[in-house]
Amino acid sequence: MVSQVIAFDSDGVICDGLAEYFHSAAIAYQQITQTNLEQKTLESLRPAFYELRPVIETGWEMVVLIHVLLQGQNSNVIWQDWRRILAQSLSHWDTTQDGLMLALDTVRDRQITNELDHWLSLHRFYDGMPACLKQLLADDAVETYIITTKEARFVHQLLQQQNINFPSSNIFGKETKQPKSEILKQLLQKHKSTFWFIEDRLKTLGKVQKEPELTAVKLFLATWGYNCFMVGERLPLRGIEAVDLGGWLEKVAQLSP
Ligand SMILES: [Mg+2]
Repeated sequence: MVSQVIAFDSDGVICDGLAEYFHSAAIAYQQITQTNLEQKTLESLRPAFYELRPVIETGWEMVVLIHVLLQGQNSNVIWQDWRRILAQSLSHWDTTQDGLMLALDTVRDRQITNELDHWLSLHRFYDGMPACLKQLLADDAVETYIITTKEARFVHQLLQQQNINFPSSNIFGKETKQPKSEILKQLLQKHKSTFWFIEDRLKTLGKVQKEPELTAVKLFLATWGYNCFMVGERLPLRGIEAVDLGGWLEKVAQLSP
């Protein structure tokens, strides 16, 4: 019988995909704008792009981030006002959110088909996380899910490379077209067990926390994720437990001694 459910965010919790984000977003940007950026120019954007990763909610926004960085937009302004900058950039651009999404997913699909090894090499699993997932999957008392803003098929591909046979039906990606809080509600209804959700984006946790139907979900902030660059954000005092990688692995190990 399932007595414990754990829902994982993917990027910044299971896997560090910063190099892949930058690579794929830069290709998509050049295709959309029909430009050809010099490697030197691209590399000059990389540090700010990495640092600003926490402002990104969904992948397509990264293409816009490349655009505004190229325009010389100041990083602090982007930090403070990303939603406004994003909307403004889109309104001046001859493309839509869906157009950017499609471009980015096409770039990823093409890499998986044509240069899988290179694409996989741009991702780094956090130490101990593959073993942690394997342990959970082998435990009948635990049901494990992944809720991500990436397409589920990309996450499945990455896990397979680590010999993790994660059931596709337990990965909820962008294709569900539902916010994480909605997916959590459905999963919570399905299971009456202890329910944990681990995520590295504080804003996402904050949204979940505001949902009265989700008060039973225990929330964890993964501090090894992209939020280590976060500035100006404060942990809410109650309800969210910040945990480091070692602490998390220990918690999970204790579930099935
Ligand atoms: Mg994340």
